[in-house]
Amino acid sequence: MLVYGSETIDMNSDIPKAIWGFNGTERPGAVYLAAALAGHTMKGLPAFGIYGNDVQDSGDQSIPEDISEKILRFVRAGLSVSLMKGKSYLSMGSVSMGIAGSIVREDFFQEYLGMRNEYVDMSEFNRRLNEEIFDKEEFKKALEWTKKNCKEGKDLNPAPKSRKQKDKEWDTVIKMTLIARDLMVGNPKLKKLGFGEESLGHNAILSGFQGQRQWTDHMPNGDFLEAILCSSFDWNGIRPPYLVATENDAMNGVPMLFGYLLTNTAQMFSDIRTYWSPEAIKRVTKMKPEGLASNGVIHLINSGASALDFSGRQTIKKESCIKPFWEITGKDASACLKATKWPPADTGYFRGGGFSSQFDTKGTMPVTISRVNLVKGLGPVLQLAEGWTVELPEKMNKILTDRTNPTWPTTWFAPILTGRGPFTNVYSVMANWGANHSASSYGHIGADLITLASILRIPVCMHNVAEEKVFRPSSWNAFGMDKEGSDYRACQTYGALYK
Ligand code: MN
Repeated sequence: MLVYGSETIDMNSDIPKAIWGFNGTERPGAVYLAAALAGHTMKGLPAFGIYGNDVQDSGDQSIPEDISEKILRFVRAGLSVSLMKGKSYLSMGSVSMGIAGSIVREDFFQEYLGMRNEYVDMSEFNRRLNEEIFDKEEFKKALEWTKKNCKEGKDLNPAPKSRKQKDKEWDTVIKMTLIARDLMVGNPKLKKLGFGEESLGHNAILSGFQGQRQWTDHMPNGDFLEAILCSSFDWNGIRPPYLVATENDAMNGVPMLFGYLLTNTAQMFSDIRTYWSPEAIKRVTKMKPEGLASNGVIHLINSGASALDFSGRQTIKKESCIKPFWEITGKDASACLKATKWPPADTGYFRGGGFSSQFDTKGTMPVTISRVNLVKGLGPVLQLAEGWTVELPEKMNKILTDRTNPTWPTTWFAPILTGRGPFTNVYSVMANWGANHSASSYGHIGADLITLASILRIPVCMHNVAEEKVFRPSSWNAFGMDKEGSDYRACQTYGALYK
């Protein structure tokens, strides 16, 4: 029998590993697989084991369904790990309103994600605005496109500003969008304009904009910047989304990054604002919530900025969906733009004005909300909930959004309940959420998030993924029989991937 497990294994601890052991009897891949995994486990190099359920003939070149599911799950997670490595998180501004997630923890980014942290003060936006450090030709193009495609919403402020002032704010928010993008990824045009250093950008795969309150008390808010950059299209056409976390909440930016790398689709940043029980909905609207909303819903709403992709206006066979940018059609993009209004920002929150993005998510889409929390004494933990977007009856939706903030984008979320623990009911999902924000990703991607988290050694504290879908390195089995306990013990034993 040929084995040689420990003589052939990959010993680089930074590179995620998986082995497919062919299930045959003439050439038993299971023997090599088991030997190599034992070697990896003994040496502290976690590896995923893949073994088919059914015996195949030795000449069979096909990849059975159960095998391909595991290979693809591993590859999506492994590629995500490698794509974020060496990139940066760019803080534009500092801590917003004492939100803990925007107190950026460098050790986490460095040791768990292999990323660096870079920072610019929001005064850099003022410098670039005042000294016109942006591509003026692109600004002209962007302004024309915005006038044509971004419809200003109703001004609900008690003292509306003049048309002239609003037009000035439109100019500013468009320039801020160019500036934020250039800060993240650079722009060769700036070099031609004499700004060599500025043209380089910060190699940022992810960023956050503080906004509130030092910037927004004085200047137009970042809603247009965040909503457009996070969307899969702008004046340059259909393109990959950028990832910008509201309020510089880096710990909500991280699950946006995970979701994006796993799906290639736009991500939505939201407040986990309100749990609406069926009883409370009935009391307030005199209507009984039905269907997916019958157990109550969670109100996902951001203070003015969400990727337009989440308006639910992209379609496949008339069903709402969110596509990777290369599948988005011109029709999809214009439907999202048409569904979005840009009301002047609520000056109660944003004295400096600006324009919020407003839409109501249409259709029933599979989504996964997630969040990374830092726990003193434990480290980072990931939590996630798979569920559905819910379209409430128009009248019910209006009553509920009017009493919250009608200038902001609304998504109603119904988590999938299991009847156990945090997934006992909708209330318990809300009650077990570890922070005020969540990242939404299209699709039921909980299993992919769990696999990714295991490679990064981030334990998962809350999920509603079926146990048979949970796929982690084989050595996790040695840490006990319950999957949650073994995950914590394995992550603690191995520690951060880049420590
Ligand atoms: Mn918020």
